[in-house]
Amino acid sequence: MYETEETVPHGGIYLFERHQYESRCKPSQNEKEVEFEEGESFPGCPRCGDGGFWRYLRASDKEE
Ligand SMILES: [Zn+2]
Repeated sequence: MYETEETVPHGGIYLFERHQYESRCKPSQNEKEVEFEEGESFPGCPRCGDGGFWRYLRASDKEE
């Protein structure tokens, strides 16, 4: 998994897995799936902005 502020290792769609700290925030599945490009930094939670963890989900839709 990748942490908020780490560099995106390769472009694709990533899933916001969980918050770093316990949170009542519950982003929807749609909010949790975000596309990033290589070299960007992972942001915080797509809903509340708190730090958390991302995991690689699949290649970009555009490339397929
Ligand atoms: Zn959140």
